[in-house]
Amino acid sequence: MAKVIPLTDARTRDARSLDALVREAAFGPGQDARDVADQRGRRLHDLRISVTDRCNFRCVYCMPKDVFGRDYPFLPHAELLTFEEIARVARRFVELGVRKIRLTGGEPLLRRGVERLVEMLAAIDPGLDITLTTNGAILERKARDLRNAGLKRVTVSLDSLDDATFRAMNDVDFPVAKVLEGIEAAAAAGLAPIKINTVVKRGMNEHSIVPLARRFRGSGHIVRFIEFMDVGATNGWRMDEVVTAAEIVRVIDREHPIEAVDANYSGEVAERWRYLDGAGEIGVIASVTQAFCRDCTRARLSTDGKVYTCLFANDGFDLKGLLRSGVSDDQLRNAIVAIWAQRADRYSEIRSAATARAPKVEMSYIGG
Ligand code: SAM
Repeated sequence: MAKVIPLTDARTRDARSLDALVREAAFGPGQDARDVADQRGRRLHDLRISVTDRCNFRCVYCMPKDVFGRDYPFLPHAELLTFEEIARVARRFVELGVRKIRLTGGEPLLRRGVERLVEMLAAIDPGLDITLTTNGAILERKARDLRNAGLKRVTVSLDSLDDATFRAMNDVDFPVAKVLEGIEAAAAAGLAPIKINTVVKRGMNEHSIVPLARRFRGSGHIVRFIEFMDVGATNGWRMDEVVTAAEIVRVIDREHPIEAVDANYSGEVAERWRYLDGAGEIGVIASVTQAFCRDCTRARLSTDGKVYTCLFANDGFDLKGLLRSGVSDDQLRNAIVAIWAQRADRYSEIRSAATARAPKVEMSYIGG
C-alpha cells in the first residue's frame, strides 16, 4: 500500500511543514500563479487522472494475475473521487497552467459514466487538450459518445497483432480483433490522430515490432514503442527484459528506413521518427535508457484523490482529505502550488537494480 502524506504533517526536505508551504505559496493580487515551478525549475503542464484502479485485462507487465487475483482489495467506491471532486481539482490545476489532461487508470472506460466526466472537464476550458488512454476492449461502443462529450484524442494500448501473443500478454484471452475494431471506431468518430502504445518486453513480443509498424504506416495513427519499465512492485522487472529504444529503432529502420524528427514541444515523452518515404511517423519512449525527468511537467491524481509528482513514487499528498474537509478553492489551489513547489523527484535518472526493488505505487492505481 502506498504511504500517504497528510497535508497537515508532511515534511519537505528542509523540514518545513507543508502547512507552512501552503501559506507561503498563497498568491497575492497581481501575482501569476502559473509561474509555479518545482525545485528543478519544471513547470506544471500536464495532469493525468486515474479514474479507476480496476482493469478488465491482466497484462503481465502491469497487473500480473498472481497479485491482482479475485481477492485483490481494489478501492471501495466511497474512496473514489466523485466526478464533481475530480472536476473541481482539475479546474485548480488548469488555473495553475495545466493545458493537457489525460484520463487513465486502471481501465478508464470501466468507470461508469466516464463520458460525463469528459464533458465536465471540457467545460473548464474549450482549449484544453483532453485525451484518454485505453486498452480498447470496449472502445468500439464508447468512441462516439466520448467524442460528443468533448474528448479530443485517444491512445490505445496494443502490444501485438499476433492474436496468440496478444492474448498471452493481456492474460485474459482477449482477442486482438476487438481492439482493432475499437481503433477504427475511434478514428471514425474523429478521435484522431490515434496513438498506439506498445510495451516491448523481451521474450514476449519483440517479433511484433515490425508488423505493428507496418500495419499502421500510412494510416495517420502513430505507434509508440515503450521500454518495459519497473513501475510498481509486482511486475518482476529486470533490465535484461528491456528492449531498448535504440534497438527498436534499428529493427524498424532495417525494414522501413526512418529518421529522427524534432519534438513537437519541450517535455514530449516520445522521441519522434519519420519514415523516409513519407508514410508517417512512429515514436519511441525510452523511459529506462534515456530518462526524461529533466523535462517532466506531469502531475498525477490517483483514483482516491492523492497527488503524485512521479510515476515511480511511493508517497502521495492526500487532496481528498482536504477536499472533504470543506476547503475553499483558493486553499485547494495553494495546496497544489505547495506540492508542486517542493517537488524534486528524478527517479529515472537515478534508477538502479536497487531502486527497481524499492516500494512504489502500482501503475494501475496511480494511472499510466
Ligand atoms: N488500461 C489502460 C490501457 O491499457 O491503456 C490505461 C492504463 S495503462 C496502465 C497505461 C499504459 O501504461 C499502457 O499503454 C500500458 O501498456 C503502459 N504500461 C503498463 N505497465 C507498463 C510497464 N511496466 N512498462 C511500460 N509501460 C507500461
